[in-house]
Parts: sequence; structure tokens; C-alpha cells
Amino acid sequence: MRRHPRMFSLLVLLSITLSGIAFAHDHSGTPHDRPIWQWTPEEIVSHVNTVRAGRDLTPPSWPDGARVAVSFSFDFDTEPVWIGFQEQSSPSYMSRGEYGARAGMPRVLNFLRKHELPATFFIPAMSMELHPEVIKQLRDQPRYEIGFHSYVHENQMRLSAAEERNIYAQALAIFERHVGRKPVGFRSAAWDLTASTISIVKEMGFLYESSMMADDRPYAFMASGQDTGLVELPVEWILDDWPLFQINWPSKHVSIRNAEDVYSIWKEEFDGAYEEGTTFILTLHPQVIGHRYRMQMMDRLVTYMKSRPGVWFATHEEIARHVKAAAGE
Ligand SMILES: [Zn+2]
Repeated sequence: MRRHPRMFSLLVLLSITLSGIAFAHDHSGTPHDRPIWQWTPEEIVSHVNTVRAGRDLTPPSWPDGARVAVSFSFDFDTEPVWIGFQEQSSPSYMSRGEYGARAGMPRVLNFLRKHELPATFFIPAMSMELHPEVIKQLRDQPRYEIGFHSYVHENQMRLSAAEERNIYAQALAIFERHVGRKPVGFRSAAWDLTASTISIVKEMGFLYESSMMADDRPYAFMASGQDTGLVELPVEWILDDWPLFQINWPSKHVSIRNAEDVYSIWKEEFDGAYEEGTTFILTLHPQVIGHRYRMQMMDRLVTYMKSRPGVWFATHEEIARHVKAAAGE
């Protein structure tokens, strides 16, 4: 159970005052109620085990004997990432989200068509409501996957379990109305999980989760020591255009890089994945990557990848299904 932190502190204070005994930590992942050095080894191990990586799910081979699986996700966050997560509701910030729909997305779609690439789009329900014409362009393309990505890009770490469950049900109804089917992929808008997120995600029947960072390879998602059956397709900040390129004055995040810097990071990460025979997964945002000089860099990157033999371009769903089947599940 996830309680409101202030209410939790009051309850704790009350229990200590009344009983004079120390309370047990509830392992909920909420802010520490005692300094970490006062926890017992068992409490620390139990807390770390809340969410952990299970076995490596890199398959013995990729389809058609490919050496590496490459997947691009485009998080079409539009205005909600500003109003929901960054808490910037003024017109200028919202216009940057709108740029993703008006200018970024057409360039992204041209790029995918030119290189005949599949892609996975993670889309908040409210971005679907705001830009239904974009969803119509995506949903009937057989090699485009649309994944679940919150209601209004809210930070679910601030929600109670009941709020989180309700908001996902509401978002799922909007998702199904626009897309015409259920999503199989879940990506947290916060790239983080509450104590309840995984049980909610399991109940909703997702195949894979893509917000954790315990490996470069796909792995079994473990919760409290149990294999949840979910495939984790891990993400990384160095494989995300937002921290590398995005600018956000209020959060003092200022990053406007030369595209060559990012090209070299991503090329060498790809080369490493190729050598290791695993996965290379990028998280991209049309409002960030969709600027002209950045799309030219993407063009060079994919041209380089295609110059290597044995690169399997796939959606996240295709990778998750392949690794699950290869693991005999
Ligand atoms: Zn997002």
C-alpha cells in the first residue's frame, strides 16, 4: 500500500508516541522513514528486491540470423509532457509540444518511410485526444506499434495506488477508442515505478515493460523476488534524445548539443550491441529529435547501421515476443 507521505509520517509519529516501539518499514518505496544506515541488512535487501533484473533474455539468435536487434521508440508526448510532468503550462512550453505534432512527426514519418523502418510509438492518452490525426496515420501501419504511456504524462510517483489504477483505466479507454486495440507495451511516463505499478501493469495484461535500466539486454522483470512474466526492454538516459538535446530553463536542464556528439555516442553504443549480439533501443521524442539537423544525424546513423550485415530492425513488441519465445515461454 502506498500512503501519503505526510499522513504516513503522522501515523508513524503517533505509533511511536503511543507504543514507544520502533515501527517496521513497509518497503513501499516511499521516502525513507528512517535514515538508511538504521535499516537492518534484511530490510535493505528486501527494499532492493522490490524491482530487480532477472535472467538475461538475449536469445541464442535473432530472426534470420541477425547479429543485433535495433528498435526505435518515439515518445509522442506533445503538450502533456510539459503540462503533466514538467509542470509548465504556459503557451510557449505547450507550443514546443505542439511542434512535435506539427513539425517533428512529419519528419519522423518521412524518415521511417525512407528507410522502411518499423517503430514503436509510446503515446499519452491526452496526446491522442489533442492530435487524433496523427494517431490515424499510425494505427493502420502494420509495422508501427503503439504503446501505453500514461494519461497526461503525469508523474505517477505522486499518485496513490487507487489514483494510479483509476487514471490508467481512464487512459486505456481513450487509447482503445483511438487505436482500436489494447496495447502490449508499457512505458512509465516517469521512467519509474510505484510500489503498485507492476501489479496494475500485470493485471492489465501487458507483455513488456520499458522504463528500467538494470542492463543493456532484455531481461526478466522481477518484483519482490518473483518473476512477473513481463519482459523488460531497458532504457537509458544516454540512449534518449531528451537529456542530450532538450532545454528546459525552469529545471536548469540546458543541453543543445552538436549532433555529431550524439552520433558518436549512439554509433558506439550500436557497435557495442552488435559485438555483444544484444539490443540497441533508442528513446526519441518527435518534439526533440524532429528538428532538422537532428533528423539529418538520424539519417546518417541508420545509413551506417544498414551498412553492417545482420541488423534486425524491429518494434519493441516484436523483440519482446521473440525473446519470450526463445526462452520457451
Ligand atoms: Zn514520455
